[in-house]
Amino acid sequence: MERVRNFSAGPGVIPVPVLETAAKEMLNYRGSGMSVMEMSHRSKVFIEIAENAEALLREIMNIPSNYKVLFLQGGASTQFSMVPLNLFRNSKKCDMVNTGQWASKAIKEAKKFGTVNVVASSEDTNFDRIPEIDSSKFSSDADYFHITSNNTIFGTRFTSLPDTGDVPLVCDMSSNILSEVYDVSKFGLIYAGAQKNMGPAGLTVVIIRDDLIGHADKSIPTMLDYKIHAEADSMYNTPPTYAMYIAGLVYQWVKDLGGVAAMQKINEEKAAILYDFLDESSMFKGTVVKKDRSLMNVPYVTGNEELDSKFIKEAEKAGFVNLKGYRTVGGMRASIYNAMPVEDIKDLVEFMKKFEVDNK
Ligand SMILES: *Cc1c(COP(=O)(O)O)cnc(C)c1O
Repeated sequence: MERVRNFSAGPGVIPVPVLETAAKEMLNYRGSGMSVMEMSHRSKVFIEIAENAEALLREIMNIPSNYKVLFLQGGASTQFSMVPLNLFRNSKKCDMVNTGQWASKAIKEAKKFGTVNVVASSEDTNFDRIPEIDSSKFSSDADYFHITSNNTIFGTRFTSLPDTGDVPLVCDMSSNILSEVYDVSKFGLIYAGAQKNMGPAGLTVVIIRDDLIGHADKSIPTMLDYKIHAEADSMYNTPPTYAMYIAGLVYQWVKDLGGVAAMQKINEEKAAILYDFLDESSMFKGTVVKKDRSLMNVPYVTGNEELDSKFIKEAEKAGFVNLKGYRTVGGMRASIYNAMPVEDIKDLVEFMKKFEVDNK
């Protein structure tokens, strides 16, 4: 069977060259006589895989040396509690921006451990934008300030970062890490589940500034303490070895493409193909205000639920899969992560044009 054109929001597409290398190395990784899945995480051969993955990520994201890179498990969702458990260290207060479902979950979790000041929210417009952020609402004594850089479900993204001064900026970058250039030094902590832009599910990457490590209360579970993982080079327990190996291949793929800046340019071109069509179509419409449109997740509707269903059904028959929108937005959502080839987007637009003509 041909591979489908896969617009899944997550786990999402993985670059074909990465899958091909993994297939080639499945039974015998580079002369080791075994699959990466079968290796001790303490073996020389695996430690090289882990070190190589970290070095590549540091290189392509230009991560300063005073930041640790941690390869953890538990998904971005575990970070919703790990961040407050480790970063509530003085006032036990944080500022958070509510830009959608994931941000709301992060807020709900942080509230279990301290005081959350929601400084801005776009809930009243069903998260169709990034809310205006008024710095006079910031808490000067907050232990950190949390944002979700890209909102996977609603299709918005921050195009500029709030200036939080000395308050560390914490970012859930799960659905747009490596898709555009970020200055890591502007953040105290970045976290991301791997399954959108970095490989398979099961791996969570945390990039944390040194001075934010080591503040957790002694009573927290060992596995939730950044210090434990930082001191053990992410080998306190068995890390998600196979997912780390694939992530390393993805980082190499990004590097070979020209790095994150080159990736961003491709992503801007890819997204423009779809948004330009949505702007000129009389049937399909984007659901997000233009200035805050995501480069990764593109929700759109026809305005008629029956027509949406018909479109999704016919698209699937034609090999365009996972286009159904999230239930609170309805309609369609095309997730067009780094690994999605530009051809797939062009083909989708052609299909949408034809559908529009046929269903006038
Ligand atoms: C997918 C996603 C999550 C949840 O990730 P898990 O790894 O399933 O816990 C959190 N935040 C954002 C922005 C996401 O896209």
